[in-house]
Amino acid sequence: PYDVLVVGGGPAGAAAAIYAARKGIRTGVVAERFGGQVSDTMAIENFISVKATDGPKLVAGLEQHVLDYDVDLMKTQKAVRLEKKEFVEVELENGALLKSKTVILATGARWREMNVPGEQEYRGKGVAYCPHCDGPLFKGKKTAVIGGGNSGIEAAIDLAGIVEHVTVLEFGDTLRADDVLVKKAQSLPNVTIIKNAMTTEVLGDGQRVIGLKYTDRTTDESHLVEVAGIFVQIGLVPNSEFLKDTLELSNRGEIIIDQHAQTSIPGVFAAGDVTTTPYKQIIISMGGGATAALGAFDYLIRN
Ligand code: FAD
Repeated sequence: PYDVLVVGGGPAGAAAAIYAARKGIRTGVVAERFGGQVSDTMAIENFISVKATDGPKLVAGLEQHVLDYDVDLMKTQKAVRLEKKEFVEVELENGALLKSKTVILATGARWREMNVPGEQEYRGKGVAYCPHCDGPLFKGKKTAVIGGGNSGIEAAIDLAGIVEHVTVLEFGDTLRADDVLVKKAQSLPNVTIIKNAMTTEVLGDGQRVIGLKYTDRTTDESHLVEVAGIFVQIGLVPNSEFLKDTLELSNRGEIIIDQHAQTSIPGVFAAGDVTTTPYKQIIISMGGGATAALGAFDYLIRN
Protein backbone atom coordinates (compact mmCIF):
# COMPACT_ATOMS: atom_id res chain seq x y z
CA PRO A 1 0.00 0.00 0.00
CA TYR A 2 0.90 3.66 -0.29
CA ASP A 3 1.59 5.69 2.81
CA VAL A 4 -0.17 8.68 1.26
CA LEU A 5 -2.44 8.54 -1.76
CA VAL A 6 -3.52 11.92 -3.09
CA VAL A 7 -6.70 12.09 -5.16
CA GLY A 8 -6.58 15.20 -7.37
CA GLY A 9 -3.82 16.95 -9.27
CA GLY A 10 -4.60 20.65 -8.88
CA PRO A 11 -2.59 23.03 -6.67
CA ALA A 12 -3.86 21.32 -3.49
CA GLY A 13 -3.00 17.81 -4.69
CA ALA A 14 0.39 18.85 -6.05
CA ALA A 15 1.35 20.58 -2.80
CA ALA A 16 0.16 17.58 -0.76
CA ALA A 17 2.20 15.18 -2.92
CA ILE A 18 5.39 17.24 -2.61
CA TYR A 19 5.05 17.66 1.15
CA ALA A 20 4.37 13.93 1.59
CA ALA A 21 7.18 12.79 -0.71
CA ARG A 22 9.64 15.03 1.12
CA LYS A 23 9.03 12.90 4.21
CA GLY A 24 10.44 9.93 2.29
CA ILE A 25 7.16 8.02 2.43
CA ARG A 26 5.45 6.11 -0.38
CA THR A 27 3.31 8.66 -2.21
CA GLY A 28 0.88 8.31 -5.09
CA VAL A 29 -1.26 10.82 -6.98
CA VAL A 30 -4.38 9.98 -8.99
CA ALA A 31 -5.66 12.84 -11.13
CA GLU A 32 -8.40 12.93 -13.69
CA ARG A 33 -6.88 16.04 -15.25
CA PHE A 34 -3.54 17.12 -13.82
CA GLY A 35 -3.49 20.87 -13.19
CA GLY A 36 -7.18 21.16 -12.36
CA GLN A 37 -8.83 24.55 -12.70
CA VAL A 38 -5.44 26.19 -13.17
CA SER A 39 -5.32 24.64 -16.65
CA ASP A 40 -8.28 26.85 -17.61
CA THR A 41 -6.78 30.06 -16.28
CA MET A 42 -5.27 32.77 -18.45
CA ALA A 43 -3.63 35.42 -16.31
CA ILE A 44 -2.58 34.66 -12.75
CA GLU A 45 -1.38 37.74 -10.90
CA ASN A 46 -1.93 36.80 -7.27
CA PHE A 47 0.39 33.84 -6.88
CA ILE A 48 2.64 35.53 -4.37
CA SER A 49 6.28 36.03 -5.45
CA VAL A 50 5.41 35.39 -9.10
CA LYS A 51 4.21 38.73 -10.44
CA ALA A 52 2.42 37.31 -13.45
CA THR A 53 2.04 33.88 -14.96
CA ASP A 54 -0.59 31.86 -16.79
CA GLY A 55 -2.35 28.56 -16.18
CA PRO A 56 -0.41 26.27 -18.53
CA LYS A 57 2.91 27.63 -17.20
CA LEU A 58 1.93 27.10 -13.60
CA VAL A 59 0.62 23.59 -14.37
CA ALA A 60 3.92 22.67 -16.07
CA GLY A 61 5.74 23.97 -12.98
CA LEU A 62 3.50 21.93 -10.68
CA GLU A 63 4.11 18.74 -12.62
CA GLN A 64 7.87 19.26 -12.83
CA HIS A 65 8.03 19.92 -9.10
CA VAL A 66 5.96 16.81 -8.26
CA LEU A 67 8.05 14.61 -10.57
CA ASP A 68 11.23 15.90 -8.95
CA TYR A 69 10.31 13.52 -6.14
CA ASP A 70 9.64 9.80 -6.05
CA VAL A 71 5.89 10.09 -6.62
CA ASP A 72 3.68 7.62 -8.52
CA LEU A 73 1.72 9.98 -10.76
CA MET A 74 -1.36 8.36 -12.29
CA LYS A 75 -2.79 10.87 -14.75
CA THR A 76 -6.19 10.68 -16.48
CA GLN A 77 -7.50 8.35 -13.79
CA LYS A 78 -10.75 9.02 -11.99
CA ALA A 79 -11.58 7.86 -8.46
CA VAL A 80 -15.16 6.62 -8.13
CA ARG A 81 -15.29 5.15 -4.62
CA LEU A 82 -13.50 5.35 -1.28
CA GLU A 83 -13.81 2.91 1.57
CA LYS A 84 -11.93 2.50 4.84
CA LYS A 85 -11.06 -1.10 5.63
CA GLU A 86 -7.70 -2.24 6.99
CA PHE A 87 -6.31 0.35 4.58
CA VAL A 88 -8.16 3.13 2.83
CA GLU A 89 -9.23 1.80 -0.55
CA VAL A 90 -9.77 3.97 -3.60
CA GLU A 91 -11.44 2.45 -6.60
CA LEU A 92 -10.75 3.91 -10.03
CA GLU A 93 -13.14 4.15 -12.95
CA ASN A 94 -11.03 1.60 -14.85
CA GLY A 95 -11.69 -0.92 -12.07
CA ALA A 96 -8.28 -0.75 -10.37
CA LEU A 97 -8.22 -0.71 -6.57
CA LEU A 98 -5.54 1.35 -4.83
CA LYS A 99 -4.72 0.85 -1.14
CA SER A 100 -3.13 3.39 1.15
CA LYS A 101 -2.58 4.00 4.85
CA THR A 102 -3.81 7.57 4.39
CA VAL A 103 -5.64 9.40 1.62
CA ILE A 104 -5.75 13.10 0.82
CA LEU A 105 -8.81 14.18 -1.16
CA ALA A 106 -8.07 17.22 -3.32
CA THR A 107 -10.64 16.90 -6.09
CA GLY A 108 -11.41 20.61 -6.32
CA ALA A 109 -14.55 22.24 -7.63
CA ARG A 110 -16.09 23.62 -10.77
CA TRP A 111 -17.93 26.87 -11.42
CA ARG A 112 -21.53 26.43 -12.43
CA GLU A 113 -21.94 27.80 -15.93
CA MET A 114 -24.84 29.75 -17.46
CA ASN A 115 -24.97 27.52 -20.53
CA VAL A 116 -25.85 30.35 -22.91
CA PRO A 117 -24.44 31.07 -26.37
CA GLY A 118 -21.13 32.94 -26.24
CA GLU A 119 -20.17 31.83 -22.73
CA GLN A 120 -17.62 29.23 -23.81
CA GLU A 121 -16.39 31.27 -26.76
CA TYR A 122 -15.59 34.27 -24.56
CA ARG A 123 -14.37 32.41 -21.48
CA GLY A 124 -11.20 34.22 -20.41
CA LYS A 125 -12.00 36.95 -22.96
CA GLY A 126 -14.42 38.80 -20.73
CA VAL A 127 -16.36 35.92 -19.22
CA ALA A 128 -14.86 35.34 -15.78
CA TYR A 129 -15.68 33.36 -12.66
CA CYS A 130 -13.34 34.71 -10.00
CA PRO A 131 -13.53 38.40 -8.99
CA HIS A 132 -10.46 38.13 -6.72
CA CYS A 133 -8.51 36.85 -9.70
CA ASP A 134 -9.80 38.80 -12.67
CA GLY A 135 -11.45 41.91 -11.17
CA PRO A 136 -8.42 44.17 -11.76
CA LEU A 137 -8.42 43.25 -15.47
CA PHE A 138 -11.61 45.31 -15.85
CA LYS A 139 -10.39 48.46 -14.13
CA GLY A 140 -12.40 51.46 -15.31
CA LYS A 141 -14.70 49.31 -17.46
CA LYS A 142 -18.35 48.29 -17.25
CA THR A 143 -19.04 44.82 -15.93
CA ALA A 144 -21.95 42.56 -15.07
CA VAL A 145 -22.33 40.03 -12.30
CA ILE A 146 -24.66 37.10 -12.91
CA GLY A 147 -26.27 35.89 -9.70
CA GLY A 148 -27.66 37.70 -6.66
CA GLY A 149 -26.60 35.26 -3.96
CA ASN A 150 -23.87 36.00 -1.45
CA SER A 151 -21.04 35.42 -3.90
CA GLY A 152 -22.72 37.58 -6.57
CA ILE A 153 -23.38 40.51 -4.26
CA GLU A 154 -19.92 40.21 -2.69
CA ALA A 155 -18.47 40.26 -6.19
CA ALA A 156 -20.48 43.38 -7.07
CA ILE A 157 -19.27 45.23 -3.95
CA ASP A 158 -15.70 44.12 -4.63
CA LEU A 159 -15.83 45.09 -8.33
CA ALA A 160 -17.53 48.43 -7.63
CA GLY A 161 -14.27 49.64 -6.09
CA ILE A 162 -12.31 48.81 -9.23
CA VAL A 163 -14.53 49.02 -12.30
CA GLU A 164 -16.64 51.86 -13.68
CA HIS A 165 -20.04 50.25 -13.20
CA VAL A 166 -21.53 46.92 -12.14
CA THR A 167 -24.90 45.55 -13.24
CA VAL A 168 -26.10 42.61 -11.17
CA LEU A 169 -28.56 40.27 -12.89
CA GLU A 170 -30.60 38.00 -10.64
CA PHE A 171 -32.87 35.36 -12.15
CA GLY A 172 -35.35 35.30 -9.25
CA ASP A 173 -37.60 38.03 -7.93
CA THR A 174 -35.54 38.39 -4.74
CA LEU A 175 -31.85 38.50 -3.91
CA ARG A 176 -30.67 35.49 -1.93
CA ALA A 177 -27.70 37.31 -0.40
CA ASP A 178 -27.51 38.35 3.26
CA ASP A 179 -29.27 41.60 4.08
CA VAL A 180 -26.12 43.48 5.10
CA LEU A 181 -24.54 42.70 1.74
CA VAL A 182 -27.64 43.72 -0.22
CA LYS A 183 -27.86 47.03 1.71
CA LYS A 184 -24.19 47.72 1.08
CA ALA A 185 -24.51 46.98 -2.64
CA GLN A 186 -27.64 49.11 -2.95
CA SER A 187 -25.84 52.03 -1.30
CA LEU A 188 -23.11 52.07 -3.97
CA PRO A 189 -23.66 54.66 -6.72
CA ASN A 190 -22.11 52.51 -9.45
CA VAL A 191 -24.06 49.30 -8.80
CA THR A 192 -27.40 48.56 -10.49
CA ILE A 193 -29.37 45.48 -9.47
CA ILE A 194 -31.87 43.96 -11.90
CA LYS A 195 -34.14 41.12 -10.74
CA ASN A 196 -36.20 38.66 -12.79
CA ALA A 197 -33.45 38.78 -15.38
CA MET A 198 -32.65 35.65 -17.35
CA THR A 199 -29.32 36.00 -19.12
CA THR A 200 -29.71 34.60 -22.62
CA GLU A 201 -26.54 35.43 -24.52
CA VAL A 202 -22.98 36.69 -24.22
CA LEU A 203 -22.16 39.13 -27.01
CA GLY A 204 -18.70 39.69 -28.39
CA ASP A 205 -16.83 41.24 -31.31
CA GLY A 206 -14.95 38.06 -32.12
CA GLN A 207 -12.10 39.04 -29.78
CA ARG A 208 -13.70 40.09 -26.52
CA VAL A 209 -17.01 40.46 -24.71
CA ILE A 210 -18.94 43.63 -25.61
CA GLY A 211 -22.19 42.95 -23.79
CA LEU A 212 -24.94 40.56 -22.85
CA LYS A 213 -28.60 40.00 -23.50
CA TYR A 214 -31.18 39.18 -20.88
CA THR A 215 -34.91 38.63 -20.85
CA ASP A 216 -37.05 40.38 -18.26
CA ARG A 217 -39.09 37.45 -16.96
CA THR A 218 -42.01 39.68 -15.94
CA THR A 219 -42.51 41.22 -19.41
CA ASP A 220 -40.69 38.74 -21.66
CA GLU A 221 -38.84 41.68 -23.21
CA SER A 222 -35.22 41.27 -24.27
CA HIS A 223 -32.64 43.85 -23.16
CA LEU A 224 -29.02 44.54 -24.00
CA VAL A 225 -26.37 45.62 -21.49
CA GLU A 226 -23.02 46.85 -22.76
CA VAL A 227 -20.21 45.41 -20.64
CA ALA A 228 -16.59 44.38 -21.08
CA GLY A 229 -16.66 41.76 -18.35
CA ILE A 230 -19.20 39.23 -17.08
CA PHE A 231 -18.62 37.55 -13.73
CA VAL A 232 -20.66 34.38 -13.43
CA GLN A 233 -21.48 33.82 -9.76
CA ILE A 234 -24.13 31.13 -9.74
CA GLY A 235 -22.32 28.61 -7.63
CA LEU A 236 -19.12 26.67 -7.12
CA VAL A 237 -19.79 22.94 -7.10
CA PRO A 238 -17.37 20.72 -5.18
CA ASN A 239 -16.23 17.52 -6.95
CA SER A 240 -17.38 15.33 -4.07
CA GLU A 241 -20.29 13.43 -5.61
CA PHE A 242 -18.47 10.10 -5.31
CA LEU A 243 -18.02 10.66 -1.56
CA LYS A 244 -21.63 11.42 -0.75
CA ASP A 245 -22.39 8.45 1.46
CA THR A 246 -18.81 7.93 2.58
CA LEU A 247 -17.81 10.89 4.70
CA GLU A 248 -19.25 14.02 6.21
CA LEU A 249 -20.06 16.79 3.72
CA SER A 250 -21.52 20.24 4.33
CA ASN A 251 -24.96 21.07 2.91
CA ARG A 252 -23.12 22.46 -0.13
CA GLY A 253 -21.30 19.18 -0.65
CA GLU A 254 -17.95 20.41 0.66
CA ILE A 255 -15.82 17.93 2.63
CA ILE A 256 -15.82 19.00 6.27
CA ILE A 257 -12.29 19.18 7.67
CA ASP A 258 -10.71 20.24 10.93
CA GLN A 259 -7.64 22.43 11.42
CA HIS A 260 -5.37 19.49 10.61
CA ALA A 261 -7.30 18.83 7.38
CA GLN A 262 -8.72 15.60 8.81
CA THR A 263 -12.14 14.49 7.52
CA SER A 264 -14.75 12.49 9.41
CA ILE A 265 -12.81 9.29 8.58
CA PRO A 266 -9.55 8.90 10.54
CA GLY A 267 -6.64 8.70 8.10
CA VAL A 268 -8.55 10.47 5.35
CA PHE A 269 -7.61 14.11 4.86
CA ALA A 270 -8.79 16.74 2.39
CA ALA A 271 -7.55 20.02 0.95
CA GLY A 272 -8.42 22.82 -1.42
CA ASP A 273 -11.62 23.85 -3.16
CA VAL A 274 -13.43 20.58 -2.37
CA THR A 275 -13.34 21.36 1.36
CA THR A 276 -15.12 23.75 3.71
CA THR A 277 -12.05 26.04 3.72
CA PRO A 278 -13.30 29.52 2.84
CA TYR A 279 -11.95 31.54 -0.12
CA LYS A 280 -11.10 29.31 -3.05
CA GLN A 281 -7.72 30.37 -4.40
CA ILE A 282 -4.54 28.75 -5.71
CA ILE A 283 -2.35 29.88 -2.84
CA ILE A 284 -4.97 28.85 -0.28
CA SER A 285 -5.35 25.41 -1.89
CA MET A 286 -1.60 24.90 -1.85
CA GLY A 287 -1.51 25.80 1.84
CA GLY A 288 -4.35 23.34 2.39
CA GLY A 289 -2.45 20.62 0.56
CA ALA A 290 0.61 21.20 2.72
CA THR A 291 -1.50 21.06 5.88
CA ALA A 292 -3.17 17.81 4.74
CA ALA A 293 0.17 16.14 3.98
CA LEU A 294 1.59 17.12 7.36
CA GLY A 295 -1.64 15.98 8.99
CA ALA A 296 -1.36 12.62 7.22
CA PHE A 297 2.30 12.28 8.25
CA ASP A 298 1.39 13.03 11.84
CA TYR A 299 -1.31 10.35 11.64
CA LEU A 300 1.15 7.82 10.19
CA ILE A 301 3.72 8.24 12.95
CA ARG A 302 1.05 7.86 15.63
CA ASN A 303 -0.69 4.80 14.18
P1 FAD B 1 -8.69 21.97 -8.70
O1 FAD B 1 -7.78 22.95 -9.30
O2 FAD B 1 -10.12 22.01 -9.07
O3 FAD B 1 -8.11 20.51 -9.03
C1 FAD B 1 -8.83 19.35 -8.76
C2 FAD B 1 -8.08 18.14 -9.27
O4 FAD B 1 -8.80 16.95 -8.91
C3 FAD B 1 -7.95 18.07 -10.79
O5 FAD B 1 -6.73 17.45 -11.11
C4 FAD B 1 -9.13 17.17 -11.18
O6 FAD B 1 -8.97 16.55 -12.43
C5 FAD B 1 -9.05 16.17 -10.07
N1 FAD B 1 -10.26 15.38 -9.81
C6 FAD B 1 -11.53 15.78 -9.62
N2 FAD B 1 -12.34 14.75 -9.36
C7 FAD B 1 -11.56 13.63 -9.40
C8 FAD B 1 -11.79 12.24 -9.21
N3 FAD B 1 -12.99 11.76 -8.91
N4 FAD B 1 -10.74 11.39 -9.34
C9 FAD B 1 -9.49 11.85 -9.63
N5 FAD B 1 -9.21 13.15 -9.80
C10 FAD B 1 -10.23 14.03 -9.68
N6 FAD B 1 -7.12 31.29 -8.19
C11 FAD B 1 -6.13 32.16 -7.93
O7 FAD B 1 -5.55 32.13 -6.84
N7 FAD B 1 -5.75 33.08 -8.88
C12 FAD B 1 -6.31 33.16 -10.11
O8 FAD B 1 -5.94 34.01 -10.93
C13 FAD B 1 -7.37 32.24 -10.41
N8 FAD B 1 -8.02 32.30 -11.61
C14 FAD B 1 -8.98 31.37 -11.88
C15 FAD B 1 -9.56 31.39 -13.15
C16 FAD B 1 -10.49 30.44 -13.50
C17 FAD B 1 -11.10 30.46 -14.89
C18 FAD B 1 -10.88 29.44 -12.54
C19 FAD B 1 -11.88 28.38 -12.91
C20 FAD B 1 -10.32 29.44 -11.27
C21 FAD B 1 -9.37 30.40 -10.93
N9 FAD B 1 -8.77 30.43 -9.65
C22 FAD B 1 -7.76 31.30 -9.39
C23 FAD B 1 -9.16 29.47 -8.59
C24 FAD B 1 -8.15 28.32 -8.51
O9 FAD B 1 -7.94 27.79 -9.80
C25 FAD B 1 -8.66 27.24 -7.56
O10 FAD B 1 -8.90 27.78 -6.27
C26 FAD B 1 -7.64 26.11 -7.40
O11 FAD B 1 -7.30 25.55 -8.65
C27 FAD B 1 -8.18 24.99 -6.51
O12 FAD B 1 -7.22 23.98 -6.42
P2 FAD B 1 -7.60 22.51 -6.03
O13 FAD B 1 -6.34 21.73 -6.15
O14 FAD B 1 -8.32 22.49 -4.73
O15 FAD B 1 -8.68 22.02 -7.10
